[in-house]
Amino acid sequence: MSDPNCIFCKIIAGEIPCWKIYEDDHVLAYLDIGPLSEGHCLIIPKKHYVTIDQMPTDEAAACMAVVPKLSKAVIAATGAAGWNVLQNNHQVAGQAVDHVHIHIIPRNDGDGLGFRWPAGELDAETAKSLQSKIAEQLG
Ligand code: 5GP
Ligand code: ZN
Repeated sequence: MSDPNCIFCKIIAGEIPCWKIYEDDHVLAYLDIGPLSEGHCLIIPKKHYVTIDQMPTDEAAACMAVVPKLSKAVIAATGAAGWNVLQNNHQVAGQAVDHVHIHIIPRNDGDGLGFRWPAGELDAETAKSLQSKIAEQLG
């Protein structure tokens, strides 16, 4: 459940240092080394999974359980006006490190990070088709 070539597994093993801010049996959280804003941090499972769909429900839940309390602490510590919770899967979605991680990114007016959300429109035919295909996958 560890990948010797994974930089985040090396952090978990203590082979690479980090600025740890939270730890429990399943989860580690630390400051991002290349922060997009002050307080940018990462929550990771202690076991190596590349993408979130590979995770057992209880381990994903253990990671998500940290999000509210860590968000609260980071926002109180930095005084940020808001924050994004971001989780990238695969290179096409911006994943650079192949070990599941959840970003907490504090946001402020004028922080220059931007927010691209080119919303489309959902027509009924597409919605109906997607709804049944996804439901079928869920079983
Ligand atoms: P991704 O693009 O995969 O969603 O995000 C990977 C994040 O991991 C980036 O924000 C990057 O700055 C951070 N990162 C990469 N290597 C290290 C490291 O060795 N230590 C820490 N603390 N963060 C890292
Ligand atoms: Zn790993």
